[in-house]
Amino acid sequence: MFEQFTVDTPEHSCAIDITLQVQQLIARSGIREGVCTVYVPHTTAGLTINENADPTVPADILRELDKMVPWRDGYEHTEGNSAAHIKASLIGSSQSVLVVGGRLRLGTWQGIFLAEFDGPRTRDVWVKVLGG
Ligand code: ZN
Repeated sequence: MFEQFTVDTPEHSCAIDITLQVQQLIARSGIREGVCTVYVPHTTAGLTINENADPTVPADILRELDKMVPWRDGYEHTEGNSAAHIKASLIGSSQSVLVVGGRLRLGTWQGIFLAEFDGPRTRDVWVKVLGG
């Protein structure tokens, strides 16, 4: 089963919790046991799994990434968004999560976040669930 959806990111840099959307696609697939891969086909956004109970956690992650990779730092890429490209590479484009009993098998405090580094934009999220 392959599905996709879009996410409108409201800010230049933000983390959007997409766990519920992914879970809904799994429920619709009818697959009870397997692996779910979530992928974003973008070079200035990525995916990460971290705490979704306290919103200060993704906020802190974004702020520290800004310190590690400043927006202006003599980059060669003429589009002016090298920091977004670098941060997207640091966190990666995909995550895979086990599907058990028809649900994402995440830790108690974990959620799947789309991390936007050069918004606001409309981002695509691709989801493939493999049963087995
Ligand atoms: Zn660029």
